[in-house]
Amino acid sequence: VVKERDRILNDLENVVGSENVSDDPVIRFAYRDFSSVWPKAVPDYVVRPGSVEEIQVIMRIANREKIPVIPFSAGVSIGGTIAKEGGILLDLRRMNRIIEINRESMYCIVEPGVTYGQLYAELDKKYGDVKLSIPDSSPMCSVLANHTQVGLGEVHSKFEDNPTGVLGIEVVLPTGEVVATGSAAWPGSKWNCRYVLGPDLTGIFLRSMGYFGVITKASIKLYPKPEVSQIYGVGYEDIKFAIKPVRELLQKEIADRIVVRNWGLNLLYKHATVEVPPEIGKGPLPEELLEKWKKETGSPEIQLHITLEGNKEVVDVKERLMKKVISKYNGNAQYLELSETVKRISLEASMGKPSADVVRSILGPRGGYDIAILYTWYDIWPELYNDCKEILRIHGYPPLLSAKTLQHGRASTFRFIFCHFDADNEEECRKIQKVKSELTKLAMEKYKVPSMGLPREVMQQCRNYELLKKIKTALDPNLIMHPSSPLGGE
Ligand SMILES: Cc1cc2nc3c(=O)[nH]c(=O)nc-3n(C[C@H](O)[C@H](O)[C@H](O)COP(=O)(O)OP(=O)(O)OC[C@H]3O[C@@H](n4cnc5c(N)ncnc54)[C@H](O)[C@@H]3O)c2cc1C
Repeated sequence: VVKERDRILNDLENVVGSENVSDDPVIRFAYRDFSSVWPKAVPDYVVRPGSVEEIQVIMRIANREKIPVIPFSAGVSIGGTIAKEGGILLDLRRMNRIIEINRESMYCIVEPGVTYGQLYAELDKKYGDVKLSIPDSSPMCSVLANHTQVGLGEVHSKFEDNPTGVLGIEVVLPTGEVVATGSAAWPGSKWNCRYVLGPDLTGIFLRSMGYFGVITKASIKLYPKPEVSQIYGVGYEDIKFAIKPVRELLQKEIADRIVVRNWGLNLLYKHATVEVPPEIGKGPLPEELLEKWKKETGSPEIQLHITLEGNKEVVDVKERLMKKVISKYNGNAQYLELSETVKRISLEASMGKPSADVVRSILGPRGGYDIAILYTWYDIWPELYNDCKEILRIHGYPPLLSAKTLQHGRASTFRFIFCHFDADNEEECRKIQKVKSELTKLAMEKYKVPSMGLPREVMQQCRNYELLKKIKTALDPNLIMHPSSPLGGE
């Protein structure tokens, strides 16, 4: 076995150089997931390719040896890069070139290792008037991985998740061939159009979480920076009163962004740097305790954070229209005094400036973070919210809701956050996994609301599962990429 391992290591060294491949246990341990609730695992080899050609050869070696490959762009997704079956962890951070910033056609082309911090600095230096859609995540996360795989960025209320901002990609397929999609498929063309030549092949790779290939370049939309961005806080004691104003503000394109949070989010920020209340995770949380915590946060049950953008005149008009809508539906709405930090983070998000503050407060000193993400719509908010709160109460977790509105009021996410737990404590992680799966099960069975990151047995019930399996097998005949995924081997 040792000989076998040495032979593979040797082959990989011949591709990327000995300084860019390692099977040292200490190095491999550093690639273990440190925040999610999923069982921890380490890869057999860490490989750091520097070019598309090197990735092609690595994929051929992995196919020949039938060893798993896990692409890793920055590794700050929540459990996305766990090498559950060992194999090659493909760390793409050496490929960190900003290949093009096309100010006229409003897109940029980046490699996987380009971070939001890096691209923001470059855009700011060269063009002060354009921005990217940034997530509430770390400035060190990968622009390419976030936009192509998971991203929920600040343009969500208008355009949906960040993958809608991807215009074309270059991918190394699991078998080693290179393809490009959108207008980028035409040699020498600009990378400015997604829907050009035949079916939308870009879409197959978006949200595929590295199961279908290694994306080596992506063309990503830029947006104009607004001259003015103003955030308003509006509170309600019942989520049902928020539905109509939120929908109208979005459908009439008055609000540029609305995030819905509950009082629990304020609890989260409060406990970011201090001891987590000992009651959390220990069993049912009594109503009185939740009431006490809620009172301490000084927050109404629900807060809308509404951002208006434009130039001064436009924002003034939007503000008048927003106030009219809020008073039309009343619901005892109260305007809230938002903290300077919330105002600053919102302004920075409008300007495309990534901030470390959000991640710092969410992760806290113990580093554990995970979320149940439901893709929902507005009419069911009150019932769904109360049902989810009850599940969380029974298991001893406070409700930490952050709901992001999508595409002008057509949909929204409902995200229940788990944080400040010890991600190395297996028992605690198992408990949270159980609560997460109860939340998604309830949402899917009672409300028919789908969720992200489903296990294989649930994915199998989806009406596209067989097609996805066929596509997976066609692209990755030896099932080497993320073999433990719901589309991997049985
Ligand atoms: C506290 C916290 C808050 C967060 N908040 C947000 C938020 O508000 N919005 C949001 O969108 N995200 C958020 N995230 C998630 C995180 O920032 C994103 O998941 C991140 O953008 C993707 O992580 P990454 O860039 O490190 O990719 P990785 O972790 O490296 O990879 C993510 C997945 O994509 C696959 N992959 C990576 N690179 C490639 C590639 N080149 N080709 C093919 N597949 C690839 C991986 O195998 C993996 O499955 C948050 C994370 C944390 C820890």
